[in-house]
Amino acid sequence: MSRSAVWHPFTQHATEPVPPTIARTEGAYVETSDGKRILDAISSWWVVTHGHRAPKIIEAIRTATETLDQVIFAGLTHEPAEQLAAALVEMAPAGLDWVFYSDSGSTSVEVALKMALGFHRNNGAPRSRIVVMEHSYHGDTIGTMSVGERGVFNAAYDPLLFEVDTIPFPVAGREQETLDRFEALIRDGKAAALIVEPLVLGAGGMLMYPARVLAELKRIAEKSGTLLIADEVMTGWGRTGTMFACEQAGISPDILCTSKGLTGGSVPLAATLATDAVFRAHFSTDRAKTFFHSSSYTANPIACAAALANVAIWRDEPVAERVAALSRMQAEKVARFGADPRFENVRTTGTIAALDLVVGKGGYLAEVGPKLRAFFLERGLLIRPLGNVIYVLPPYCVTSAELDRLYDAVDEAAELAGGAG
Ligand SMILES: *Cc1c(COP(=O)(O)O)cnc(C)c1O
Repeated sequence: MSRSAVWHPFTQHATEPVPPTIARTEGAYVETSDGKRILDAISSWWVVTHGHRAPKIIEAIRTATETLDQVIFAGLTHEPAEQLAAALVEMAPAGLDWVFYSDSGSTSVEVALKMALGFHRNNGAPRSRIVVMEHSYHGDTIGTMSVGERGVFNAAYDPLLFEVDTIPFPVAGREQETLDRFEALIRDGKAAALIVEPLVLGAGGMLMYPARVLAELKRIAEKSGTLLIADEVMTGWGRTGTMFACEQAGISPDILCTSKGLTGGSVPLAATLATDAVFRAHFSTDRAKTFFHSSSYTANPIACAAALANVAIWRDEPVAERVAALSRMQAEKVARFGADPRFENVRTTGTIAALDLVVGKGGYLAEVGPKLRAFFLERGLLIRPLGNVIYVLPPYCVTSAELDRLYDAVDEAAELAGGAG
């Protein structure tokens, strides 16, 4: 067979093994073409919620294709998009009354940033500075890299990235420093928006902070007219224990980004929700105030139908109870490493559990990740550590026995990596 022509994402082809071919997915598993079942402990990069190929979602996709495919969304509309927008407004934190569709998490964030700048400019008081939180991740496009943590992942593109103001991550016990810094940064009334991942910073290492910090950030932002953009691309759809993470802080952001779990992880779709104030700033007979943004596949009807089926599952099935049960199991099971010297910062928020492997002498951080990944794969487990951070972010259908198998492997893996050596 000739070599593959595929250039994989976030993959160093010079050093990484040839990836297994996945031929089938079902529930908590992906299955290789030679029949090996792999437990998807990271929900295929955080997108799968109920499980792979949730029957109701797949059925909705099948049905939708009988009447619709892509339809231009400027000047035309369709029922799946209309119904989904109404449902999202209903489910999202209060006050988010408008839904703008796009097709990936990154795009939903780009849309949010453009809305924020448009809001201030169209209201006659332009602001262009964006405040971000240290260790954040918002995507891999130029704009989203600009508002994300700088490092090896984006050093090559740094000349193109725009400047931002950064507040420190609210480390436990030093949350006030984050709030004070934010207050000082926006006092001049020039910051257009603060963008944050609510409660959990995903790609930055599954870093978790309390809801009251988020509530305080919102309160401070409001005082100086700075918009709050909640990037719920990863945290939405039950991942942190509530439908959206913002609920736990009792706040409504001005703009909210959702993608990943929006279609249950079946097909790509994203939405940026905005308040009426943000929409009104773009509502004018002056054409220059139009919100100038679109993607070709905006509001794809098949993707909207998949998302509607996801919404119906949340409405008709005890998903909230499943999420609560999984959250309890995660907290109980990962607790076994709480006093284990090979690990630090054992933590959970909702269905997400994470722990930092103490890398022993001579254990190079960069080498640990790929080694662990291979180790887990060998045991039929899909786990991708972020540096020395091991995390378990499973589909909600995962069983207690499957979690036990996962954590037993994490225990073994710590030996391999020479934990606390
Ligand atoms: C994954 C992610 C994104 C980017 O989403 P894509 O669909 O990969 O473009 C943005 N923000 C957060 C918080 C994410 O976790």
